[in-house]
Amino acid sequence: MSEPSSLSNLLKEERRFDPPADLAANANVTAAAYEQAAEDRLGFWAEQAKRLTWQTPPTQTLDWSNAPFAKWFADGKLNVAYNCVDRHVENGLGDRVAIHFEGESGDSRAITYAELQREVSRAANALIELGVHTGDRVAIYMPMIPETVIAMLACARLGAPHSLVFGGFSAEALATRINDADARVVITADGGYRRGKPSALKPAVDEALTKPGTENVRSVLVVRRTGQDLAEAGGTWTEGRDVWWHELVERQSPTHTPEAFDAEHPLFILYTSGTTGKPKGILHTTGGYLTQVSYTHHAVFDLKPETDVFWCTADVGWVTGHSYITYGPLSNGATEVLYEGTPDTPHQGRWWEIVQKYGVTILYTAPTAIRACMKWGDDIPAKYDLSSLRLLGSVGEPINPEAWIWYRKHIGADRTPIVDTWWQTETGAMMLSPLPGVTATKPGSAQVALPGIAATVVDDDAREVPDGAGGYLVLTEPWPSMLRTIWGDDQRYIDTYWSRFEGKYFAGDGAKKDSDGDIWLLGRVDDVMLVSGHNISTTEVESALVSHPKVAEAAVVGATDPQTTQAICAFVILRGGVEEGAGLVDELRAHVAQQLGPIAKPKRIMPVAELPKTRSGKIMRRLLRDVAENRDLGDVSTLTDSSVMDLIQAKLPSTP
Ligand code: ATP
Ligand code: MG
Repeated sequence: MSEPSSLSNLLKEERRFDPPADLAANANVTAAAYEQAAEDRLGFWAEQAKRLTWQTPPTQTLDWSNAPFAKWFADGKLNVAYNCVDRHVENGLGDRVAIHFEGESGDSRAITYAELQREVSRAANALIELGVHTGDRVAIYMPMIPETVIAMLACARLGAPHSLVFGGFSAEALATRINDADARVVITADGGYRRGKPSALKPAVDEALTKPGTENVRSVLVVRRTGQDLAEAGGTWTEGRDVWWHELVERQSPTHTPEAFDAEHPLFILYTSGTTGKPKGILHTTGGYLTQVSYTHHAVFDLKPETDVFWCTADVGWVTGHSYITYGPLSNGATEVLYEGTPDTPHQGRWWEIVQKYGVTILYTAPTAIRACMKWGDDIPAKYDLSSLRLLGSVGEPINPEAWIWYRKHIGADRTPIVDTWWQTETGAMMLSPLPGVTATKPGSAQVALPGIAATVVDDDAREVPDGAGGYLVLTEPWPSMLRTIWGDDQRYIDTYWSRFEGKYFAGDGAKKDSDGDIWLLGRVDDVMLVSGHNISTTEVESALVSHPKVAEAAVVGATDPQTTQAICAFVILRGGVEEGAGLVDELRAHVAQQLGPIAKPKRIMPVAELPKTRSGKIMRRLLRDVAENRDLGDVSTLTDSSVMDLIQAKLPSTP
């Protein structure tokens, strides 16, 4: 990124979409919020903190005296579970459905706020019986079922920080995370349903607990979801350690009085998805986190809790699930959908069937899912009634403009606004996003910092770049839901985020400002390529490829090249029905050259059936770089499916 000049005007995206007039007229948040926050940023956040019910309202907002270690609302006290559950019941909303659970195989269950209160109280009482004290860490390794959300809230209720580990991770990955957080209890299930069959979880817990560093786990609480035979699945049952949820939790009292904790009390640890290296245990605390997830969920989704049905498709084991399945929606008293399975089980219209069934009004998903739907074909969503949808969201990766347009047209009937939300595990909540009632949206751009957030793009010398130029995305002021540290490693926290540019948070993402000053994310800094002296972003080349009608998805990497420093290598997934035929590669290369200029023309293009992705759906470019450079693969433990890499490597010799 040493020459931010080179290809910074490549995305010639001119399409604009104004907010629908009725949405703008009734929007929860208007342009005035930007002005208020600009005038008095801390006052603005102090105001937003009043969305919550505090046992002791805070009198201080930010303490930055020990920067970069922040304290927000430090003298306030509150209970997160009370804010997400009990207070809604006290406000007469006990009969409102909190969660519409849909199992993969079609079983369903509606849970009202009153029931949620009883379930969370029972689970909290059960954890107390297991000896869980305030401050003890609890690992949660679960499928996407209501008990996962209940377990999180039960931990929050007791002030016992939880650490969720994706259900798709191996025993090894689970053991590392249990060890790093020094967890005392593990909550899991016999298994969950994935791709039409039970997929076991408990055996991985059993195996993890044989590994060194996990000795402090004294109890394993097991939900019976699939009813599968434990021994047959390769698991064991350890008397005295293992206990069934239905035996322990169901006999507990359905009432429990929550205790208020300090605003800076730890709420959870969550390990980043590991796209770029060894996962980091990101620590989030109570008051500031809940303030920002609640505010952003209200503002960015324009949530009307009386009438909206919200659905975030993320796995709850990812930060998006923490903030926009559990804490944001429930703190706002929303009605939401929780779906256990995969989008194509038993058929590729499963998601749209769910939208139709529950009348989903707001859908929040990831570019990877949108591109998969593009690949499966337009006719699939067309079979369902999606007219309830009024707002769509995207998160997780830069969304290619063509995927954005497809999402709006085929899911949103060319009517719904799309909010492209940029944020990270570390930021805890959304940071950049259009506001649906205010912003004229641009396909592919997260555009602007939310009210109360300060973000910009800087060059190597930390100078803000002018409009039209590229560089690094930084956050220039602390924000309420920021990570407080990396668990057990304050120095790594300082080194990773606060050392590159003095006094600024370094996000690790490349970005550019367009001529209006709007921000476009260009992928991770590590993913920017250097080709014959030009900096070229992987995102831009990928978006150019996806704008070709035959391509559904693309991943681009820079491979070491003797002539050009790096050479652009592209891996593409073709749209349904497209044949690989002769001439395709030349056609795609010519298309990129025409879209972006000859310098961005990939040297190699390889059609593949799948791309390597993390469990949160992100492309693992570093593995593709290993392939392109004929190296042994690095750590593949966070991949969804490591056989994908074998398929890609098997294809290599036949390509030019
Ligand atoms: P690791 O930090 O371990 O490599 P990760 O960065 O994939 O993992 P997350 O915190 O889940 O883990 O992802 C945050 C990253 O996802 C951002 O830094 C950015 O690269 C990308 N991202 C998220 N939302 C957007 C968006 N709307 N537009 C562009 N990029 C996004
Ligand atoms: Mg990251």
